Order: sequence, then structure tokens, then C-alpha cells
Amino acid sequence: MGPDRFVHDDAPYVLGMLSADERAAFEQHLSGCAECAARVAEIADLPGLLATVPPDEIDDEVPATLLPGLLRRAGVERRRRNWLTAGLAGEFDALRDEMLDVVRESGETAADAVRDALDQARTALRKAMDALGDVEK
Ligand SMILES: [Zn+2]
Repeated sequence: MGPDRFVHDDAPYVLGMLSADERAAFEQHLSGCAECAARVAEIADLPGLLATVPPDEIDDEVPATLLPGLLRRAGVERRRRNWLTAGLAGEFDALRDEMLDVVRESGETAADAVRDALDQARTALRKAMDALGDVEK
């Protein structure tokens, strides 16, 4: 057997970060690879993840029933965060347009200054959003 190309997929899998295709491929691999299955079972027990699972989904004797609950939770959280950051950027654009409209009425120079300031703020926002994305990687 050659090198295991799924060797780094355990954490992204448990955290719900694989694409649908990647997840399907990894799950198929899991059924035949005891090492990857063991790593997934290990990190599936992370206390932080466990804390998000309702008690009735926790079954110490059958980790296989626990994992789908964890993955579902992780997926929901990821979608919520993606939605949040996308919403934030949209809000910011709307705010910028609104402010520029107001400032334009008082002169182009002021409008330029405000546009520069807002562009800088937007860059900072982008960085913050990227940092948020990195936490998930
Ligand atoms: Zn493997």
C-alpha cells in the first residue's frame, strides 16, 4: 500500500470543512482504513465539539453514532459564519454608498477623503474576515 493520501483529512472532516466530494471520498476511505478511522474517532472526542452535541446524541459505546451529530453541528456553524461574514461585507458596502451620497452633496474633495478612509476600513474588515476563515482551516 502506498502513502495514505487521506492522512491529513481527519481534522477537516471532523470539523465539517471538506467539500461534498472530498467528504464522500474520505468516508469511503474510512471504511477500509483503520488508521484514519482511529484518528477521526480520537479527535471526534474533543471536548469543545462534544459540548455542542445534545446529551441524547452522545453514546460512548458507539462513536459511529456520535460522529454524524458532530459533523452536522460543525457544518451548521460553518454555514452560519460564512453567512455572517458575507452579510457583514454587504452591510459595509451599503453603508459606504450611503455615506458617499451624503458627502458628495458637500463637495468632491470631502467625498474622496471619505472614500479613502472607507476603503482602508474595508481592507481591515477583509483582513478580519480572512482571519476568521483561517481559524477554520
Ligand atoms: Zn487512511
